[in-house]
Amino acid sequence: MEEEKKEVTEGKGWNVFKLLPSCGKEAANLDIIFACDGASSVGQVANEVAKDLTVRGVGARMCCTAAVGAGSEAHVNIGKNAKRVIVINGCANKCTSKIMQQKGIKIDYEYTISEMNVKKAPTLDFDDKDVEKIAEKIAEDVGYNGKA
Ligand code: SF4
Repeated sequence: MEEEKKEVTEGKGWNVFKLLPSCGKEAANLDIIFACDGASSVGQVANEVAKDLTVRGVGARMCCTAAVGAGSEAHVNIGKNAKRVIVINGCANKCTSKIMQQKGIKIDYEYTISEMNVKKAPTLDFDDKDVEKIAEKIAEDVGYNGKA
Protein backbone atom coordinates (compact mmCIF):
# COMPACT_ATOMS: atom_id res chain seq x y z
CA MET A 1 0.00 0.00 0.00
CA GLU A 2 2.76 2.37 1.01
CA GLU A 3 4.64 1.56 -2.18
CA GLU A 4 1.58 2.24 -4.31
CA LYS A 5 1.20 5.70 -2.75
CA LYS A 6 4.85 6.50 -3.40
CA GLU A 7 4.55 5.49 -7.01
CA VAL A 8 1.53 7.70 -7.58
CA THR A 9 3.04 10.80 -5.99
CA GLU A 10 6.44 10.37 -7.61
CA GLY A 11 5.20 9.11 -10.93
CA LYS A 12 2.68 11.85 -11.69
CA GLY A 13 4.14 14.77 -9.79
CA TRP A 14 1.49 16.53 -7.70
CA ASN A 15 3.11 19.84 -8.52
CA VAL A 16 1.81 19.58 -12.10
CA PHE A 17 -1.76 18.67 -11.20
CA LYS A 18 -4.27 21.48 -11.40
CA LEU A 19 -5.65 21.77 -7.88
CA LEU A 20 -9.23 22.88 -7.28
CA PRO A 21 -10.36 25.38 -4.67
CA SER A 22 -11.35 23.73 -1.40
CA CYS A 23 -15.10 23.22 -1.58
CA GLY A 24 -15.22 22.88 2.21
CA LYS A 25 -13.63 26.27 2.81
CA GLU A 26 -14.87 28.18 -0.19
CA ALA A 27 -18.37 26.89 -0.82
CA ALA A 28 -19.93 30.31 -0.26
CA ASN A 29 -17.90 31.70 -3.17
CA LEU A 30 -18.47 28.76 -5.48
CA ASP A 31 -21.17 27.32 -7.67
CA ILE A 32 -21.18 23.74 -6.49
CA ILE A 33 -21.98 21.13 -9.11
CA PHE A 34 -23.43 17.80 -8.07
CA ALA A 35 -23.51 15.35 -10.95
CA CYS A 36 -24.61 11.85 -11.55
CA ASP A 37 -21.82 9.42 -12.36
CA GLY A 38 -24.23 6.70 -13.37
CA ALA A 39 -23.06 3.60 -15.21
CA SER A 40 -24.65 4.50 -18.51
CA SER A 41 -24.01 6.85 -21.42
CA VAL A 42 -26.00 9.68 -19.84
CA GLY A 43 -24.46 9.22 -16.38
CA GLN A 44 -21.01 9.51 -17.89
CA VAL A 45 -21.96 12.58 -19.90
CA ALA A 46 -23.27 14.21 -16.69
CA ASN A 47 -19.94 13.63 -15.00
CA GLU A 48 -17.93 14.90 -17.97
CA VAL A 49 -20.01 18.06 -18.21
CA ALA A 50 -19.39 18.71 -14.50
CA LYS A 51 -15.65 18.23 -15.07
CA ASP A 52 -15.67 20.53 -18.07
CA LEU A 53 -17.37 23.34 -16.11
CA THR A 54 -15.07 22.81 -13.12
CA VAL A 55 -11.83 23.19 -15.04
CA ARG A 56 -12.93 26.37 -16.82
CA GLY A 57 -11.90 28.44 -13.80
CA VAL A 58 -15.21 30.30 -13.64
CA GLY A 59 -15.94 29.68 -9.97
CA ALA A 60 -17.70 26.36 -10.44
CA ARG A 61 -16.56 23.28 -8.64
CA MET A 62 -17.93 19.78 -8.70
CA CYS A 63 -18.40 18.12 -5.34
CA CYS A 64 -18.98 14.53 -4.22
CA THR A 65 -22.60 13.57 -4.82
CA ALA A 66 -22.12 10.14 -3.28
CA ALA A 67 -20.84 11.71 -0.06
CA VAL A 68 -24.00 13.80 0.21
CA GLY A 69 -26.08 10.68 -0.41
CA ALA A 70 -24.14 8.88 2.31
CA GLY A 71 -24.99 11.67 4.73
CA SER A 72 -21.51 13.14 5.18
CA GLU A 73 -22.23 16.27 7.21
CA ALA A 74 -19.29 18.15 5.68
CA HIS A 75 -20.56 17.51 2.16
CA VAL A 76 -24.18 18.28 2.99
CA ASN A 77 -22.99 21.60 4.43
CA ILE A 78 -21.05 22.36 1.25
CA GLY A 79 -24.33 22.07 -0.64
CA LYS A 80 -26.20 24.17 1.91
CA ASN A 81 -23.54 26.89 1.97
CA ALA A 82 -22.85 27.04 -1.77
CA LYS A 83 -23.28 30.26 -3.68
CA ARG A 84 -25.48 28.32 -6.12
CA VAL A 85 -26.12 24.62 -6.60
CA ILE A 86 -26.12 23.09 -10.08
CA VAL A 87 -27.43 19.54 -10.40
CA ILE A 88 -26.74 17.38 -13.45
CA ASN A 89 -28.74 14.16 -13.52
CA GLY A 90 -28.13 11.36 -15.98
CA CYS A 91 -31.67 10.17 -16.63
CA ALA A 92 -35.30 10.61 -15.65
CA ASN A 93 -34.69 8.85 -12.33
CA LYS A 94 -33.00 12.12 -11.29
CA CYS A 95 -31.01 10.46 -8.50
CA THR A 96 -28.84 13.51 -7.84
CA SER A 97 -31.86 15.80 -7.47
CA LYS A 98 -33.48 13.31 -5.11
CA ILE A 99 -30.33 13.16 -2.96
CA MET A 100 -30.31 16.97 -2.71
CA GLN A 101 -33.98 17.08 -1.81
CA GLN A 102 -33.56 14.41 0.85
CA LYS A 103 -30.69 16.35 2.42
CA GLY A 104 -32.42 19.72 2.30
CA ILE A 105 -30.10 21.24 -0.30
CA LYS A 106 -31.67 23.92 -2.48
CA ILE A 107 -31.17 23.37 -6.20
CA ASP A 108 -30.67 26.52 -8.26
CA TYR A 109 -30.19 24.88 -11.67
CA GLU A 110 -31.27 21.36 -12.57
CA TYR A 111 -30.39 19.49 -15.77
CA THR A 112 -31.09 15.96 -16.94
CA ILE A 113 -28.89 14.66 -19.73
CA SER A 114 -31.45 12.18 -21.15
CA GLU A 115 -33.79 15.14 -21.69
CA MET A 116 -31.12 16.99 -23.66
CA ASN A 117 -31.03 14.85 -26.79
CA VAL A 118 -28.67 12.19 -25.46
CA LYS A 119 -29.91 8.63 -25.49
CA LYS A 120 -29.53 6.53 -22.37
CA ALA A 121 -27.65 3.37 -23.33
CA PRO A 122 -25.85 0.65 -21.37
CA THR A 123 -22.39 1.87 -22.21
CA LEU A 124 -19.70 4.03 -20.65
CA ASP A 125 -18.90 5.50 -24.05
CA PHE A 126 -20.19 8.90 -25.05
CA ASP A 127 -19.79 11.53 -27.70
CA ASP A 128 -17.50 14.43 -26.77
CA LYS A 129 -19.69 16.70 -28.87
CA ASP A 130 -22.64 16.06 -26.53
CA VAL A 131 -20.47 17.01 -23.56
CA GLU A 132 -19.30 20.17 -25.30
CA LYS A 133 -22.81 21.20 -26.36
CA ILE A 134 -24.38 20.64 -22.95
CA ALA A 135 -21.53 22.28 -21.05
CA GLU A 136 -21.96 25.32 -23.32
CA LYS A 137 -25.70 25.44 -22.69
CA ILE A 138 -25.22 25.33 -18.92
CA ALA A 139 -22.41 27.90 -19.09
CA GLU A 140 -24.75 30.19 -21.00
CA ASP A 141 -27.65 29.65 -18.55
CA VAL A 142 -25.62 30.35 -15.43
CA GLY A 143 -23.60 33.22 -16.87
CA TYR A 144 -20.13 31.74 -17.36
CA ASN A 145 -19.66 32.70 -20.96
CA GLY A 146 -17.27 35.56 -21.30
CA LYS A 147 -15.68 34.72 -17.94
CA ALA A 148 -12.16 33.34 -17.47
S1 SF4 B 1 -30.07 9.51 -12.59
FE1 SF4 B 1 -30.10 7.73 -13.98
S2 SF4 B 1 -28.02 7.57 -14.77
FE2 SF4 B 1 -27.94 8.81 -12.89
S3 SF4 B 1 -27.50 7.36 -11.21
FE3 SF4 B 1 -29.73 7.63 -11.35
S4 SF4 B 1 -30.38 5.92 -12.67
FE4 SF4 B 1 -28.17 6.17 -13.00
